Amino acid sequence: TSESYDAVIIGAGGAGLSAAIAAYDKGLTNIVILEKMAVNGGNTNFSSSGMNASETKFQKEQGIEDSNDLFAQETLDGGHNTGDPELVQFMCDNSAGAIDWLDSLGIKLDNITLTGGMSVKRCHRPTDGSAVGLTLVPGLVAAAEERGIPTKMSCEAKELVKDGDAVTGVKVDLDGKDTTINAKAVILATGGLGANAEMVTKYRPDLEGYVTTNQPGATGDGYTMAEDAGAELVQMEQIQIHPTVEQETSTLIAEGVRGGGAILVNSEGNRFFDEMSTRDKVSAAELEQPGGFAWCVFDQQVYDANTAIAKYEKSGLVQKGGSVAELAEAIEVDAAALQATIDAYNAITTDGAADEFGRTEGCIAFAEGAMYAIKVAPGIHHEMGGVKINEKCEALDASGNPIAGLYAAGEVTGGIHGDNRIGGNAVCDIIVFGKNVGEVVADALA
Ligand code: ADP
Repeated sequence: TSESYDAVIIGAGGAGLSAAIAAYDKGLTNIVILEKMAVNGGNTNFSSSGMNASETKFQKEQGIEDSNDLFAQETLDGGHNTGDPELVQFMCDNSAGAIDWLDSLGIKLDNITLTGGMSVKRCHRPTDGSAVGLTLVPGLVAAAEERGIPTKMSCEAKELVKDGDAVTGVKVDLDGKDTTINAKAVILATGGLGANAEMVTKYRPDLEGYVTTNQPGATGDGYTMAEDAGAELVQMEQIQIHPTVEQETSTLIAEGVRGGGAILVNSEGNRFFDEMSTRDKVSAAELEQPGGFAWCVFDQQVYDANTAIAKYEKSGLVQKGGSVAELAEAIEVDAAALQATIDAYNAITTDGAADEFGRTEGCIAFAEGAMYAIKVAPGIHHEMGGVKINEKCEALDASGNPIAGLYAAGEVTGGIHGDNRIGGNAVCDIIVFGKNVGEVVADALA
C-alpha cells in the first residue's frame, strides 16, 4: 500500500513537531508526522535544562545584557572551535525569534538561568523553573493537534525511497505492515543513537558499558537511512557524555542544579573541579575520582529553586540530612572534610575569595539547615555528529551538494556543536532548525 503527501516528517520530537507546525503555518498543510514509538516527544521529553537564546525579549525585560555574537562565540569556544561557524551563527541569530515563536504557541520560557560554559544568563526555562521538555513537548503536540496535522504513531521509517538522485518517500512499518509514504520532501528528525549500544561503540569503542539517558527509540535509524541515501555523516565520534547521571535509573540530574549553586564532591568529601566547566571536562574529572563518581551536594535554596529535585527525591535518588554532618553520615563521607569543603566554597561569595578550581559562575553560599546529595557519574547523552546540512537544512552529500528532497533538523544533524555541546543548546538547535526546515520546505514547495 502507499500514501502521498507534500512532506513527510520522520520523528515527533522537538525538531519534527516544530518543523510540522512551521510548515503548516506557511501554508504547507498536506503533511504527516511519523513516530516509531507509542509516545511522542522523543528525548526532548527529558530535556531538563532549558533553551539557550540571546537578545530575547525576556532577557531585556530582566535587564540581562547579551548578544548573538557572544552566544555564538561561547558556543564555538565550548566546542573548541570544531563546530560549524555558519550554522552556529544562524542558530544564535535566530534564537530570539524562536523564543518569540514558542511564546506565540503558548510556550513561555521566561525563567532565565545559567548552564556550564556561558558567561551571562541565557538558558530559558518555563516560568516555574521546571524541566523544559515537560512544557515544550505538550505545547508543541497541542499546537500540532490544533492544526489537525496527522501523526502516525508506532510507525517506524525503515528506508528512504529514491528516484534517481532525488528522495521521493520513505518505506515504513505501520502496525506490522509495509507501507510506502510518497512525498515531495522528506524531513529527517529522528534524533540520536544513545539507546543503540552497538552503534555507540561502532563510533566510540571506549563508551562500552556506559548507561544512557536516551529513550529506547533513540537507535540512530536516521543516520543509517541518510547514509544509505547518499548523505554525508560528520563527526559521528562526537558522542557527548553528561557528567551528572544517576546510574541506577539513568536519570539525568539537571545542569540547573549546579547552575543554582550545587557542588560536586568525591567520596572523600572534597571538591575536585569547576562544576560549571563544560560537560566533557567535568565528566573526565569525575572519572578520575575514587570509584569514578561524585556526589552532587546542595542546600535547601537549590532544592526550592529547581522543581525537578522533588521528582528526583520521589524516585529515591536524593540523600538528605538536617545538617552537613547528618548528610555526611548518610552518604558515608567524612563530615569534617565535607564541612571544610563547604566552608571554602562559601568563602567565594562571603569573602570574595577566588575559587581554587576557578569556578566563577553560579557560586552561591550554602545556607545552614537541610543538605542534600545525589550520586552521579557520566552517561551517554547526545550525538553531536550526524547528517551534514546547510543553513536551509538540506542534507548534503560528500561533495557538499544537496540531496534533492531530503532535509534534516535536530539531533540527527551534525557538526553544529563540534566536540562539546553547551547545556541548553540542543533545545535551541532543535527549535531553531526545526522551525527553519518547516519554513524552507513550505517555501520550496509553494
Ligand atoms: P530531536 O531533539 O532532534 O527532536 P528527539 O529524540 O526529541 O530528537 O525526537 C526524535 C524522535 O524520532 C523520537 O520520538 C524517536 O522515537 C523518533 N524516531 C527515531 N527513529 C525513527 C524512525 N525510524 N521512524 C519514526 N520515528 C523515529
